[in-house]
Amino acid sequence: MLDRRTLLQSSALAVAAGSLPRISPAAEERRINEMYIDAHSHVWSPEVEKWPLAKGQTKADLKPPSFTPQELFKLAEPVGVGRVVLIQHSVYHLFDNRYLMACAKLMPGRFSIVGMVDDTIPHPDTTMKDLLPHGVRGLRITPRIRGEKWLEGPGMEALWKAGAETGQAMCCLIDAADLDNVAAMCARFPYTPVVIDHFARIGVDGTIRDADVAKLCDLAKRKTVHVKLSAYYALGKKQPPHEELLPMIRRVLDAYGPERCMWASDAPYQVEPPNTYQASIELIRDRLDGISAGDREWLLRKTAEKVFFS
Ligand SMILES: [Zn+2]
Repeated sequence: MLDRRTLLQSSALAVAAGSLPRISPAAEERRINEMYIDAHSHVWSPEVEKWPLAKGQTKADLKPPSFTPQELFKLAEPVGVGRVVLIQHSVYHLFDNRYLMACAKLMPGRFSIVGMVDDTIPHPDTTMKDLLPHGVRGLRITPRIRGEKWLEGPGMEALWKAGAETGQAMCCLIDAADLDNVAAMCARFPYTPVVIDHFARIGVDGTIRDADVAKLCDLAKRKTVHVKLSAYYALGKKQPPHEELLPMIRRVLDAYGPERCMWASDAPYQVEPPNTYQASIELIRDRLDGISAGDREWLLRKTAEKVFFS
């Protein structure tokens, strides 16, 4: 269920609603804004009649069967996460961004959105700009939709150009092999904000290759590019405590600086046993040595705030 009554059952809103000592809306907003930001989670509703799935997808395909904002915050709030960037699911909902926009509307101030737009429709940049007032601050782009020519064509060009005007970020779900093509687009559109998801999935086959990390770090010379430190369940040993990822994280941090790196969970995938939401944030909050408290604040909140909430 995605209605106001159900949402009120989430812990923070229960506080605001009076089950615990009442605090003012302004104080509540301040409290939320001081908490961490998870720069990447998905949500979906089991109510597929109300929120239809993409063609070919059925309720049985949803794994887990339900992952709503309330289920997300049940995991996120206890570890100090107050805001989340919701990422459009490239399979379940594809180009239909309505569910994420409804979530953002029902819980104001809690979500920013990375949506998806079909670059093969006429004037996709108009669609992209129309989504901005609904909280869509970035677009997920990926070769998984139309293959190796994914960055070619006037539609994709129009999206990158629009991103430079609106500040909406091109958020790339890619593998290390796609970094060269993304680098070429960054050279053509030097003012378009870009976010690389999940370290370009370096380590997805269990091996973190030096040449791949070097390529990711080389892209740091494009000053509009940011990197999500995320999806630990899919990389390296693929289980907590994820410490084998720390050398890569340090190299990425050295190349980009903390102001262009952001922690993210990639829930609900990160919360499938033996992985946990807590193990994800712990890697950056507790296990990443040798950085200042101020730098850690960028990784856990300020970078995502700058790119997706400001
Ligand atoms: Zn994801």
